[in-house]
Order: sequence, then C-alpha cells, then structure tokens
Amino acid sequence: MKILVMIKQVPDTATQVKVSSDPKAIDTAGITWIVSPYDEFAVEEALRIKEKRGQGEVVAVTLGPERAKEALRSCLAMGVDRAVHLNDPTWEQADTLLTARALAAVIKQEQAALALFGRQAIDDDMGAVGAAVAELLGWPCASWIMEESVDEAGKTIRVGRQVEGGLEIFDLPLPAAVSAQKGLNEPRYPTLKGIMGAKKKEIKDVKAADLGLPGFRGARPVRGQARSAPAAAAGTHHSRRPRGGGQGPREGPSRRRQSNLTLLGDDNDMAGAIWCVVEDDRQGNPKKVMAEVLGEASRLASPLTGQAEAVWLTDKATEAGIKQLGEWGAKRVLLVENAGLAPYRGEVWAPVLAELVQKESPQAVFGAVTTRQREVMARLAARLGAGLAADVVALAVEDGKLVATRPVYAGKLLSKMTWAKTPWLATLRPNVFKPAEAQSGAAAAVDKPAATVPAPAMSLVERREESSTGLPELAEAEIVVSGGRGLKGPENFVILESLAKVLGAAVGASRAAVDAGWRPHRFQIGQTGRTISPKLYLGFGISGAIQHLAGMRTSKVICAINKDPEAPIFKIADFGIVGDLFEVAPALEQEFKKLLEK
Ligand SMILES: Cc1cc2nc3c(=O)[nH]c(=O)nc-3n(C[C@H](O)[C@H](O)[C@H](O)COP(=O)(O)OP(=O)(O)OC[C@H]3O[C@@H](n4cnc5c(N)ncnc54)[C@H](O)[C@@H]3O)c2cc1C
Repeated sequence: MKILVMIKQVPDTATQVKVSSDPKAIDTAGITWIVSPYDEFAVEEALRIKEKRGQGEVVAVTLGPERAKEALRSCLAMGVDRAVHLNDPTWEQADTLLTARALAAVIKQEQAALALFGRQAIDDDMGAVGAAVAELLGWPCASWIMEESVDEAGKTIRVGRQVEGGLEIFDLPLPAAVSAQKGLNEPRYPTLKGIMGAKKKEIKDVKAADLGLPGFRGARPVRGQARSAPAAAAGTHHSRRPRGGGQGPREGPSRRRQSNLTLLGDDNDMAGAIWCVVEDDRQGNPKKVMAEVLGEASRLASPLTGQAEAVWLTDKATEAGIKQLGEWGAKRVLLVENAGLAPYRGEVWAPVLAELVQKESPQAVFGAVTTRQREVMARLAARLGAGLAADVVALAVEDGKLVATRPVYAGKLLSKMTWAKTPWLATLRPNVFKPAEAQSGAAAAVDKPAATVPAPAMSLVERREESSTGLPELAEAEIVVSGGRGLKGPENFVILESLAKVLGAAVGASRAAVDAGWRPHRFQIGQTGRTISPKLYLGFGISGAIQHLAGMRTSKVICAINKDPEAPIFKIADFGIVGDLFEVAPALEQEFKKLLEK
C-alpha cells in the first residue's frame, strides 16, 4: 500500500514574522523553518499504518523552494521511505489551487492508495489544500481526523472526524484523502540512526513539465484565484499587527493598519447575488452564525448591487428555519432537500453546490468557518477553479471589488486578498461579523432548484455525541471562560464551569491543560486547537504564549486573571486582574450573578 504524505515547511511558531520591503512577502532573514506541526501528525500516522501492515511505502511530498528539502529530510529521518520535492520556479507563486493541482498530479502519478495531509499549514492557515486535492482527484475525503484504521485488505479506511458536538465515524473506500488533527497521535522523534539513514534516502526533484502541468511564471496571474500564498502571491499583502509585540492598544480587525492592495484581473462583474451556505443544527434550524454571514452579505449586497440569498442543503428543512433565514436578511432561499445530503459529505455537497453556481452565477458564495463548511468550500473552489479566502475576519468593497482580510502566521500578520473573477468564495470566522437583527415578518422567496445529488462513496458508521454540558459550543460562544496550567488539576475546572453557567459561556483550555489530560483536545484554544473570536474572553491561569494567542487574539474584549503581573497575556488584555484565580473566579461569579439578576 502506497501512502503519500503532503507536508509544508513553515516558520517556527516562536519565530517573529515581519513583512519585507515587498508587502506581499515576509522577511525570511533569521527564520527557523520547521515541518508544519499538523503535517507531523500525518507523517506519524502514515508510518504507523505501514508498520501495522508490515508492508507498504510512505512517500513525503512537498512543494516549495530549495530549502524545503530540510523539511523532507526531517520526514525521512522519522522513517519515511523516500521524498518528492515539487521544486520548480513556476510554482514560486503557487496559491492553494495551483498547489492542489500539483499535489493531485503527483498523487495520480504515484498511484497512491491514501493521501494524508495536516489539517492546515500554520503559516497561511487556509486549511484548504487537502479537500481541494480530493476534489480534483474525485476522491472521498475526511478532514480533521482524530482516529483511523485501515482494514486488512487495504480497501477501506475507517476514520473518526471531529465535528461540532462530537466525532463522526466514517468508512472511506480507498483511494481516499484524510487530514490529521492534533490528538491523532504523538509524532516520534527521529533517532540518530534515522537521521544518518535519511542522508542516503532519495529526494526526487519534480518539475511542472514532469507532471504534464503548465507553468504560469511571467504570465498574467491565473484568473479565478484568490491570491493566497502569503509569502509570494501577487494580490496578497501583509500588514503588521499593531499589538502582539505587546505595545499599544489592541485593535479589532477593522482597526488594523493596512497598506495598498494590488487588484487582480479585470473582471468587475457587478451583477449576481451573494449566496450564504446554510450551517444548520442537523435538525432543520439554521445556526446562529448564519445571522452573522447573512448580516455581512446584506451589508455588502447594496454596494455590490446583488442581494443576500441563502443556499440550504439539507435532508430536512423546517418552515421555522426558512422563516428565520428570511428574518436574518435572505431575500431568497434556494432549498435542496434530499436524504442523500445527510450526513454531510463533501464529495456529495460540492457537486450540488457547483451545479447551482453554474446555473445561477452568483457573485459570491460565503460560508461559515465550521468543520464541514471549511471543507466543502475548499472542494467547491477546486471544482469551479475559483478563488477561496478562508477564515476571513473582515470584508470590504474597494473600487467595486471585494477585499478580504484574514489572519496569517498565527494571527501575527493580516493578509488582504481579492479575486480575479467571480464567484468570490469566502468562509467567515464566527463572532467577528455583526449579526443581522431579525426583521420580524421579513420573508424570503423559496426556490427548490433541481440538482443532482451524487451517490456517496463514504458511509457513516456512527456518530459519537459529546455528553452535553449544557454550555454553548466553543467556536460559536459569545463568551468563553478559559483555563490553563494555573488551574492545577482537572477537578478545578468545575470552578470555571460554574462561572460559565452564570455567564452562558463556553469553557476552553490552554494546551498545557489539555496535554495534562485535564480537558479533551476539542476544548483547546490556540494554534493547534480551536480559533475563537468571542465578544468576551476570560483567561484564568494562562500565561499567554504566542500559540495560545493565535487562537483567541481576535476576541473583542480580553480579560486575564493571573497571579504573575509579568504574564505575557496582560500585554494583549483589555482588562487584567493580578490575583489568585481560586479567589478571583468565585468572586467574579458572585458579582456577575448580582448584575445579571438586576
Ligand atoms: C507547535 C506548538 C503549538 C502549540 N499550540 C498551542 C495551542 O494551540 N494552544 C495553547 O494554549 N498552547 C499551545 N502551545 C503551547 C504554548 O507554547 C504554551 O506552552 C501553553 O499555552 C502554556 O499553557 P498555560 O498558559 O496554561 O501554562 P503556563 O505557561 O505554565 O502558564 C500558567 C500560568 O498560570 C499562572 N498561575 C499559576 N497559578 C495561578 C493561580 N493560582 N492564579 C492565577 N494564575 C496562576 C502562572 O502565573 C502562569 O502564567 C503550542 C506550542 C507549540 C510548540
């Protein structure tokens, strides 16, 4: 069984990342390069599959400049058999789609049975390549897997993919693509023997022509791409975060400094609606995040002349749900109701969405940053050859063009991007955009367009629901109470849960608390955990390491409670309490109770 693992070389998380004199690139001087941490989980899992089966081959693949060979050497030292380096100047400006096309071509050429990816690369944080490759290959795909096993015959992989509220266990016929989430395994350290052996293993240089792919260097930027590769792509530029170095007031996305943007292409078609893909609770009710997505679409609709519309793919819509979408600003609901649409499978949803887009030519398609929409929007982008801006924190119309702002390098920088042509695809981070105020009585027209729902290759085995805490979902919560190593033990999280109940908040944790086994990984906030943007973040006994900040720095108000006045978290906090959390948390709970009772 041949397994290909796609890896990317990225700056070390602790490295300071600065914009270079070219605002579309970073200054690479002094950067320490590493294999993106999620990719290490993918490498480890590939090696475990091979070891368990007692046969097979594991090949690491990367696309990048000459220095990316170091990353391949690290994988070879871990035990990977050989490596492929997509090393051609033609890919210097490769964005998500070009990268996906190159990787898909290698996977095809190598006739791999399984393609493993990391959940996302920690430089551009797009998290789109794995799903895009699967779409290009016509393969089933499961993102954010926490467990897997390949059957004895090597025909099927059973995976547990992390979704909001639990884990979904799926069987995927091979060949298939999966992306690794933290918690899947603990990557091994290379042994001395492994490091020495790696020097003798093959790293094959592959050019675009070897894969039968065209180059684009020196040509016009490829149309239909959001320029997304942070260090190189035209149309993307970075602006320094005003705070994070710890100085000056913290600023929300809309208040950050940004330089001029290079606009791409000349398409400026102003017609067409802004579509919002509905995220629902699987019971026929749109989730609260839809108020934000529809609110933003409606705000943009008038300068762009289209109207906000909802596209709902579901096995069961409700009248109440349709009414809710209308009240949140959808002028029309395109409803595709079909039993084959549940449970969510990207291989089924993407063709349906693409068919609708091709029929109706919307100007933009927006989704929310949820586990399923992140994946399906990447598949849709690949299927349409369109540009995707993932995890967007601001949208603006500049000269008739939509410009998206998104955090990169763990939120240390902001990147601006625009699209060469419609449809403009974007996923919006929850809790960042102003939600639509429900307009009582506003009704959406309902259309039920015909669409072909393909038969799925992957099948649901079971859904493991998390035991309900009665608290809101972490990524969607307006208030998050978070605990770190300062909690001293798992039993003390009840203190935070009690406070959270009073506030209607979700409870999160730092990696130190998760690694200690005090909280399950799905509650981890940070670079290798969840990204949250609540209205209020309360951090108890958390020092404020850069990787933790990566997951919560876009919170509107940050309040830190720490007994160490020098704790770095105070540098980004709007409010700080220097004190013992075991005294402060119960005192805050009492005060909030009194205030909320009033
Ligand atoms: C590749 C990589 C990825 C990472 N990803 C993440 C990530 O996603 N999320 C994440 O959180 N971290 C991540 N980390 C780890 C990160 O670097 C820190 O180690 C971690 O965030 C520290 O957790 P902490 O703040 O809970 O613990 P510590 O740094 O140990 O801080 C504990 C804090 O509690 C305070 N304290 C102790 N007792 C009390 C008390 N009684 N009252 C009040 N305060 C008290 C202390 O003063 C201290 O500031 C990552 C690291 C790496 C290398």
